[in-house]
Amino acid sequence: MSIFEYVTGWLLVLVLLAMLLVTPLVITHNRTLRDHGADCWWCHPRLLPHKRR
Ligand SMILES: [Zn+2]
Repeated sequence: MSIFEYVTGWLLVLVLLAMLLVTPLVITHNRTLRDHGADCWWCHPRLLPHKRR
């Protein structure tokens, strides 16, 4: 075995876990369209710096 294979396997596991965690959120978000507003970080991502208000 090699370290590259080890790292690649862990990356795959992490990606799969991330998808499993995100998919339900996306599904529920797409099915419920009424609980959204300015506070919904999904509709209004706050990860980006504020360019304008
Ligand atoms: Zn939303």
